[in-house]
Amino acid sequence: MTLNQDPLLRQAKAYIDGADRGAAYLRSLSERPVHASTHDLNALDFALPKIGIAEESVLALLDQAGSPGTIATAAGRYFGYVIGGALPAASGARAMLTAWDQVADAPTGPSVVKMEEVALRWIIKLLGLSSQAEGAFTSGATMANMALLATARDVQLSRQGHSRGKGLIGAPPLRVVASDEIHATVLKSLRMTGLGSDSIERVPVDDQGRMRVDCIPKLDDRTIVLAQAGNVCTGASDPINEIADLCETAGAWLHVDGAFGLWARAANETARPLIGLERADSWVVDAHKTLNAPYDSGIALCRHPEEMRATMAIGAAYLPDTNPSPADMAPEFSRSARGAETWAALLSLGRDGVADLVLRFHRYAKRLAKELQGIGFVVPHDVHFNQVFVTLPTHEEHCADIARIVQDSGEAWFGEARWRGRAGFRLSVSNWATSDHDIDRLVAALKKAKSTVLDA
Ligand SMILES: *Cc1c(COP(=O)(O)O)cnc(C)c1O
Repeated sequence: MTLNQDPLLRQAKAYIDGADRGAAYLRSLSERPVHASTHDLNALDFALPKIGIAEESVLALLDQAGSPGTIATAAGRYFGYVIGGALPAASGARAMLTAWDQVADAPTGPSVVKMEEVALRWIIKLLGLSSQAEGAFTSGATMANMALLATARDVQLSRQGHSRGKGLIGAPPLRVVASDEIHATVLKSLRMTGLGSDSIERVPVDDQGRMRVDCIPKLDDRTIVLAQAGNVCTGASDPINEIADLCETAGAWLHVDGAFGLWARAANETARPLIGLERADSWVVDAHKTLNAPYDSGIALCRHPEEMRATMAIGAAYLPDTNPSPADMAPEFSRSARGAETWAALLSLGRDGVADLVLRFHRYAKRLAKELQGIGFVVPHDVHFNQVFVTLPTHEEHCADIARIVQDSGEAWFGEARWRGRAGFRLSVSNWATSDHDIDRLVAALKKAKSTVLDA
């Protein structure tokens, strides 16, 4: 049989072509500008041809016209949002998984389902959560928050005598309590779960962006409290232990969104603010941010797995009941085995490696804050984890120009931000590949941009 006749050999050949091109891309990244070149994107945009083109030509076009239009988030000089990179073992695992093309369910992918199960167990242990906890992999924290908000909603409604199957139709009112600095995606998750975002009881934050416990309204068993581990500007965590005291007494459901910040619990030096984390009813953490698993990979974890299963199970008549399925916890039915990449990421790091990664991010964030303050910038918060909000003592509006100059230089990338009414920019250290040298280059680029703008 010739190569062209055997479909799987053809697939293997295209696969190697894609992998070779990807490897060449990765090798070029450390010296390439971080920003994307978007001049040639139209080369990707045309009417779908009547007759398809050969796969090697498809890949060549994708590479030639697509690669320059990527932002080098995979390399160590990207400090925008909280993106993270992809650990080598996790990228390699994704390559294998692409070949396997498994659907993450017991009848369709026994080995990947096992890896996901084990990865969840490892994460629960690493983060010191309740040993009763179980959970599921999702596309990200947004969907993980949604799955758990749906669970919390159903639990609090059934406590009011309103059965799960009725949903929100004819339901008694629930209450949602969250801080003024709750992540924007949680509002979306609330809307998607039918809880809405307009009637949230907002709690003011302190000077680090943490929920003020003394301002939390009186709670009851109709309430869902949304705490955050990892403020996107300051990295600070809400005081979970004190919030848990109030929730336990009142019968409120405590949910913790720790998309990137929950990982702080994996290292002694950063874990302190997360005391009492295990007392929450549910938690969200991303694998694709701090842990550096490839996109997209979030995790929903619940201390009451039977409740999560009652809300999330598919229960289709054609599925055998005896066959526990990850889809009984996850929002999706058919999905990729993203948790197997997390299994590979964790295994390649080991427990010490996860702690080292977290500490390295923290150490770099502290270094950035110190050095930037040394050259006249202002960091109006303590460095709790990996996030640093930076502004100027006067003329804060120049921060946007400084960000743009650094972005355009290709030396690094980070975004403008506003925090507590101040204009500035935000640096996130979340890529496993970031080195001391990358931090040197970022500081040098910021110093240069600042003098260009302010000494002009
Ligand atoms: C990033 C983030 C989210 C949303 O996560 P996705 O994985 O992008 O869906 C939610 N909450 C916090 C605190 C985040 O940092």
